[in-house]
Amino acid sequence: MIIEILGAESLGVRGLACVVKLKNQKICIDPGIALGWSRYGFLPHPFQIAIGAEIREKIIAELKDATDVIISHFDGDHCPLFNPNPYQLGISAVKNSLSDCRIWAKGSAHSSTVQQKRRSEFAESLNRNLPNVEGVKEGPLEFSMPVSHGQQNTEEHSIMMSRIEEDGKIFVHASDIQLLDEETTEKILNWKPDIVLVSGPPLYHYTSSLHQMQRELAWKNAKKLSRHVHILILDHHLLRSEEGNMWLRKLKRTAQNQVFCAADFMGRTPLLLEAWRKELYEWMPVSQQWHEYYEQGKVDRNDYRIRGWESLISRGKIKPCKWYDACPIKEYTESGRLERYWVENYCLVNNKHCIRYQKEEQGKYHPDYMMPNGEIREHLHL
Ligand code: SF4
Repeated sequence: MIIEILGAESLGVRGLACVVKLKNQKICIDPGIALGWSRYGFLPHPFQIAIGAEIREKIIAELKDATDVIISHFDGDHCPLFNPNPYQLGISAVKNSLSDCRIWAKGSAHSSTVQQKRRSEFAESLNRNLPNVEGVKEGPLEFSMPVSHGQQNTEEHSIMMSRIEEDGKIFVHASDIQLLDEETTEKILNWKPDIVLVSGPPLYHYTSSLHQMQRELAWKNAKKLSRHVHILILDHHLLRSEEGNMWLRKLKRTAQNQVFCAADFMGRTPLLLEAWRKELYEWMPVSQQWHEYYEQGKVDRNDYRIRGWESLISRGKIKPCKWYDACPIKEYTESGRLERYWVENYCLVNNKHCIRYQKEEQGKYHPDYMMPNGEIREHLHL
């Protein structure tokens, strides 16, 4: 079982999109994305929009050969939408992919009116019957009955958790539960998972002492999961603030097992772009009309891309790979021979999954024209 997290707050966007590769199945869970319409009174910064667009492309690419798609609920950051805003994923971009695969979707009961509408639009756009799979178990897949979306009333706003098992390894995806319900935590543990990907509490909403009960409950449930689950990945609502990042660090320090955010799990430095949105605007001011012009296709989001990375490095938010200055991948990119994808997804985020990095650490030979994923591109050497 190979798990790859595509989108989450620690990767720069809202969502909890991932891919699980089994021997004979490729399962995409929650293939959606959003950027948070307004934080601190600001729309998404163009740098965040550029990062979001790349993650959206990645989700689109991963869906092309997916055999199964799971949708935990129909919030805009968890599924393709009939009517997306400019920062989300539209059904039209993935219609062909979604026509060919199996779709396992939460039912429409125990959902808000907006979610029910999105579900209907989703099914109609694909011209597919979309059965409710809550409680279903088939092959390596199993789905929960509706569980509470945070502390909200389950009758009106719930999600469906997924369990995937292969060769004795069990993965659980539990989007948006926010660790606020003890019963849901117990359900996860009853599934006896080895790895859990789950949304942490939305600490950025907890602005008064009245929220003390939620804080304590989420901490208690996180500790409980971390005691029993070998790898616990906490992200989403939790990492929309620096406070959430500190909460996670404290959990990592005190946990008996491994605790990660999505970026950690993917070997990368976290990019908490929503938490840093105010600072991004201070470092790289944006004209008042920019977003309007962007929707009209009159400005390019990539204008802020290189400046954005440079700002994060110069302000100490991220630290590139220690081999970066001497690495041929940097030179190929700066000379325009290599697309920026590689430096932005490996070098600048200090990605420990880089094959070049691993070989450097082991003192093993590797040619200059080996890509961070091990791919050989001999033409770069000419
Ligand atoms: S390619 Fe790998 S080793 Fe080279 S700088 Fe990037 S992350 Fe480091």
